[in-house]
Amino acid sequence: MPLEINVGDTLELKKQHPCGSKTFLVMRTGMDFRLTCQGCNAQIWIARKDLEKRVRKISKKEQDIK
Ligand SMILES: [Zn+2]
Repeated sequence: MPLEINVGDTLELKKQHPCGSKTFLVMRTGMDFRLTCQGCNAQIWIARKDLEKRVRKISKKEQDIK
């Protein structure tokens, strides 16, 4: 089942970035996702199927929480 991930969501991944951070902000969605590391601001591209295997937790954008 595809995960529902939207621009502005914050993801916690199973594998940490080399800088030590595990949280990434979603900048762009599609077949490939663009994420910004919250530790060092590096931007990474990751294929949806790879991302879905690595996501531990999805934090929704605050304004989406009713
Ligand atoms: Zn980083």
